[in-house]
Amino acid sequence: MRMQSYVAGQWQDNGKTAAQVHCPLDGSVMGEIAGYDQTGGEILDFARTKGGAALRALTYLERANLLKQIAATLSENKQRYAELSAKNNGASEMDTFLDVEGGIGTMKYYASLGKRLGERRWIAEGDLEQLTKDENFRALHVLTPIRGVAVHINAFNFPAWGMLEKVSVALLSGVPVVVKPAASTLPVAWAMVQDIIAANILPEGAFSFLAGGGRDLADYLTSEDALAFTGSADTARMLASHPRIISEAVRFNAEADSVNSAVMGPDLTPDSDGFKSFIHEVSKEMTIKAGQKCTAVRRIFVPAAHLEAAQSALVAKLSKGKPGDPSREGVTYGPLVSASQKQAAIDGVAALAAETQVVFEGDIGALDGDAEGFYFTQKLLLCKEPMAAKTVHETEVFGPVATLMPYQSEEELFELVRRGGGSLVSSLFTNDDAFMLEAVQQLGSTHGRLLFVDDSISRGHSGHGNVMPMCIHGGPGRAGGGQELGGLRGLNFYHARTAVQANLTRVTALQEG
Ligand code: NAP
Repeated sequence: MRMQSYVAGQWQDNGKTAAQVHCPLDGSVMGEIAGYDQTGGEILDFARTKGGAALRALTYLERANLLKQIAATLSENKQRYAELSAKNNGASEMDTFLDVEGGIGTMKYYASLGKRLGERRWIAEGDLEQLTKDENFRALHVLTPIRGVAVHINAFNFPAWGMLEKVSVALLSGVPVVVKPAASTLPVAWAMVQDIIAANILPEGAFSFLAGGGRDLADYLTSEDALAFTGSADTARMLASHPRIISEAVRFNAEADSVNSAVMGPDLTPDSDGFKSFIHEVSKEMTIKAGQKCTAVRRIFVPAAHLEAAQSALVAKLSKGKPGDPSREGVTYGPLVSASQKQAAIDGVAALAAETQVVFEGDIGALDGDAEGFYFTQKLLLCKEPMAAKTVHETEVFGPVATLMPYQSEEELFELVRRGGGSLVSSLFTNDDAFMLEAVQQLGSTHGRLLFVDDSISRGHSGHGNVMPMCIHGGPGRAGGGQELGGLRGLNFYHARTAVQANLTRVTALQEG
């Protein structure tokens, strides 16, 4: 398998091999990434001039139809992506479903939003404002698409969803995309782009794809471009401080590490239904995608009086997990995606050792001969003194690892949760309405999303870790400070907002589109 870039309207292969891609189930090489010769400047210019003009000429409805066609094309080829996902990501059926179906579903959702926006090329925001005594003089805020390129640099853990969620919003906005997925999990994204290009749905220049490389893209960004990054906090910081991004005031959105939490509410007891939902959700979140989810639960807070009960319930659930090749009978979670991710997980657990003890460890002997792969078994850690701890609130081990911690009071709980320094999500299991209202006020400013599970929605909620396109995805502080999705809110990143002041007839015409 040799994977190429699609830039300047053609698949590129300069004969050099930029990198290899591995199968994490046994460590074997499963493909190579071809090099390309274009500079970042050439790649962006082509997208800006060809793709931007063509997309802006279309209405939201017309762009929505393009998304619908792409989603249909991808749906037809799902089986191929599932096979690649199993091989390249060591994914279980559920892992692949979340990535591939989740991505296609997000695209369909944005197609439906575009249909609602209809036959127009700009968005009117809010009411007509009267500015002076003259009632004929008014203002309207208008959103028009930026005239540059949307550069998307993605993380390895969601090769399909990570690409499609960003692409959907940018293309609907009328902005061409240059997508740079993570090299280690390129195959699924590459296969999808092959199908999108072959289906000839999009105008020339609307979709460019970099298989590897992309290191010089930021050098050529302008004030009308947007850079959306998902990945580690280190890379996010490096890009955010890039001189060009600062001097051109380039739109920059970062989704980075997050030390998310799950809370057993102070009102729950170990014999309650709420407790069962809590234990179920936490153990599920620890093993889906082998814990390689930006939203996965990393810190588990329980009332001090119920620490032992929570620990034994979690250990009992986790003990049912079996590592290995997910295509085998009885296996519940696969390996990490690469040797370097496995090493990072080992280092992460070691970094937590001074503040935690391991109270449960998955059985490596259960691997049934898969041991050559990049396996890292589940670990439940216990930190008895979380108020005195620091590293446990700051370290994201990107694997099936979480730390259980007791809290003494509501006040202490909120303080501990906030020590994550800004998170994508916290889920709180409680039937206490007053506690819920207090938690929103205490935790809102440090969280992109708060999920409250009571007994009435214990079977109907969308899950701690699932990102729903109707809600914003992102988090303040160490989670990157960015926001994506959130229905129409997501389009703001790719639109400029302008206050248009004119006579009533003119702004009314503008408002009506
Ligand atoms: P990473 O090493 O920062 O890489 C992310 C992306 O940046 C990859 O495509 C990588 O390309 C690229 N990249 C690295 N250095 C670059 C540079 N100098 N210029 C341009 N691009 C560069 O992160 P990762 O290890 O893939 O991702 C894991 C992290 O992502 C986790 O910590 C997780 O929390 C976070 N994450 C966050 C979210 C969220 O929504 N908040 C979602 C998923 C993951 P190469 O692969 O070619 O090196």
